Amino acid sequence: MFLVALLVFVMFGLLNNSAAAQFDNGEQAQIYPVVRTPYPELIYTPEACQEGSDKICFGDYYKVLPKTSYVNKVIVPDTIVIHTDDQSGKTPEKWFSTTTWNGLAGRDSGGRSVHFGVGLDGIGQFLTMYEGGVIQCRGAGRNLDSHSVQIEMGGRSYNTMLNGKASPAMVRSIEIITAQTVDLVLVLMETYDIPIENVIGHYEVEGSGKTDPGDIYLEQYFLPLLKKKLGN
Ligand SMILES: [Zn+2]
Repeated sequence: MFLVALLVFVMFGLLNNSAAAQFDNGEQAQIYPVVRTPYPELIYTPEACQEGSDKICFGDYYKVLPKTSYVNKVIVPDTIVIHTDDQSGKTPEKWFSTTTWNGLAGRDSGGRSVHFGVGLDGIGQFLTMYEGGVIQCRGAGRNLDSHSVQIEMGGRSYNTMLNGKASPAMVRSIEIITAQTVDLVLVLMETYDIPIENVIGHYEVEGSGKTDPGDIYLEQYFLPLLKKKLGN
């Protein structure tokens, strides 16, 4: 009886955590036409990393997104694209990468993908990666997707970190998520021989009309932190 109660409790917790995130509004959806069908609530469960052969797993957990969300092709990345996934600014203490996964998997029957989600719960790897290349994601448009690794940080309005408009909770979340992302980017730069000039924000992608993850944030906070760590 106790076990059943415990199971119900755990399931309830999982369901509560599985609300789908809102993503960069209307992010170039026209490039990847998909059939919109209702989808069941997705529950995130981590998988063991399938290390071996030349597969690499970075981060704290590994769970590959549905096949419909990525291009089944290995590409060689020379660029790293940073995003934020637009989770609510009212609850920065809930900016989780598992929410990012659920949002991507559920959206448009899984029509979008990135390689990583970074949140207060750690770094999740969402696509298969190898020593010499990575599975092509559907993140910032085909031209860029064909030669990049992409990272979705949980949350939104990261620029507020620098203009004094962020609440203490938001500052805390942005700091925690940034620190993990910078460390991840350093490892990716090393693994795939990517120069710092090729670490860009989604807003820099021509014609994207995007502002994530925030220009001031990336240029005055993220990149200086990355440069500092790179020098050490
Ligand atoms: Zn984006």
